Formats: sequence, structure tokens, C-alpha cells
Amino acid sequence: MIVVKTIEEMRELREETAGSVGFVPTMGYLHEGHLSLVKKAREENPAVVVSIFVNPMQFGPREDFKSYPRDTRRDLAMLEPLTDIVFIPSDKEMYPKDYDSWVEVKGLTDVLEGAVRPGHFRGVTTVVAKLFNIVAPDKAYFGQKDAQQVAVIKKMVKDLNMNLEVVTCPTVREKDGLAMSSRNTYLNGEQRKAAAVLYRALMLAQELVFRGEKDAGAIRLEMKELIEKEPQANIEYISIADNETLKEIHHIKLPVLVSMAVKIGKTRLIDNIVLE
Ligand code: AMP
Repeated sequence: MIVVKTIEEMRELREETAGSVGFVPTMGYLHEGHLSLVKKAREENPAVVVSIFVNPMQFGPREDFKSYPRDTRRDLAMLEPLTDIVFIPSDKEMYPKDYDSWVEVKGLTDVLEGAVRPGHFRGVTTVVAKLFNIVAPDKAYFGQKDAQQVAVIKKMVKDLNMNLEVVTCPTVREKDGLAMSSRNTYLNGEQRKAAAVLYRALMLAQELVFRGEKDAGAIRLEMKELIEKEPQANIEYISIADNETLKEIHHIKLPVLVSMAVKIGKTRLIDNIVLE
């Protein structure tokens, strides 16, 4: 495994690489969710590149950029058996002083996370476009955990004719259903237990739909009531949306994306499932 920090070194290595390159962009502090993407890339490509970059552009001014967990040594040990190249650029390498260009996807970014985190997706699409230009992957791997992110990136790739395939990988969960996330480390013991309520609410939605409930509003309400029983939980949104347009629906017509953002204490967690 080779670790590189500059764009120039990354480019040189890419040029020397034969066969398809699978790429997994991450913000580090890796867990089994990230590793599932790397394993998938390993299965499908002779060369695997992982980037670790906590992208300042996708955090709002009151968000957790500074406190976001970081442990490069641990990350590298986890990647070693699976990865050929790890790209760890500095903030300055990615955004030099005179940096002034942005990539923005409209429409899909107006709702859900985009509605409550202004500028977030502009930061995501800008950094991912830059990473795609630097790494020049044949396939890039993203988690369903961030459902809107992967939809937005697929749209960017299509609209801008980027020459690569975006692969979506299933959400990896803890035993009690909590989706793995670097941010779960913010939770204390009690909050960690409370956080399982997100998954229970998703399972409730699934059960209601499978029992024949067609009224999305009724399902949202039952999910809300379940989550509100958890004193640590504060709902930011609960959404039942068309899985392609991400627009809210009233009447269930599969496939639908059920998603939510809930604060447990100060920690903001997101999760989703697609019902098909
Ligand atoms: P992050 O480091 O949080 O930016 O995540 C990097 C990539 O890993 C993104 O494509 C995420 O969607 C994906 N990812 C994060 N958590 C999970 C998970 N629990 N299961 C599957 N993929 C995940």
C-alpha cells in the first residue's frame, strides 16, 4: 500500500496503473461501513484507491468540521490489507489560496439534507469532482447510508459526462440496527442505546407499508410518535419520498425512500431505507 499526499504523486501513480481503478472517497475515521465499500472495490478492480479527506467545504459554519474524529494511523492499518493507494491531501493541496471553482447540482439538492444544510452538497460535489479528476477512477463506490449524496453524485456524473460508473453499496449496521457512522463516536453510553430508535422507526415504516398502509402522512406520524418516546431524540425531519426525485409523496407507490435526520443529544444522525 502506498500513501500519497500530493495531487502530482497521485496522478503519477494513476498513470502507472494498469487495468480498472476502483475508488472509495472517505473522510476517514473508518469503520466496517467504509470497509464494505473498499472490499467491493477490491472484488471488482485490480487496483483500489481510497482517499481520506475531511472536506471543509461541505461543513456549515456551525457544524462539526473541527471536532470531526480523525485517526490516520488507525485508518491506514485498516486499509493496509485491502488497498493499493491511499490519497491523503491537505486542505491547502485541495483548496489553495486562490481556489474559486464550484460544482453544483440543482433540484435534487433542494430537499432533505440539502434543505437543512445549505451549501453542504455544493461542497460534496465540488470535492468529489476534484477527486474524480485527480484519481481518474473507472468505478467509484458510495454508501446507501448517504442516500441523497449518492443520488446527487450519480446526477453530477451523468450531467457532466464523467467517464466512470458509480456503485451504491448497502448500509452496514450495528447489531441493534444503528447505521455505522464516524459520528457515532460522539454518543455516550445512554445516547448510543437511544440511537437505535432511528432503525426501529425505519422498520416500523417498512412493516406498515408491507401491511398495506398507503397513506405516507400516517406512516410519518407513527414514526414520529415512536421516535418521540425516546427522550434523547429530537427529530429534524422524517421523509417519505420518491426514490428518484426525492420529492415527498402522499400516496405510497414503491419504490420509496424513507429517510430521517434525528439529533441524539447534540449528535445529528441520518438513516434511510428504500422500500421496494
Ligand atoms: P464518510 O467518511 O462518512 O464521508 O463516508 C464515506 C463513504 O462511506 C460514503 O460513501 C458513505 O456513504 C459510506 N458509508 C458511511 N457509513 C456507511 C455505512 N454504515 N454503510 C455503508 N456505507 C457507509
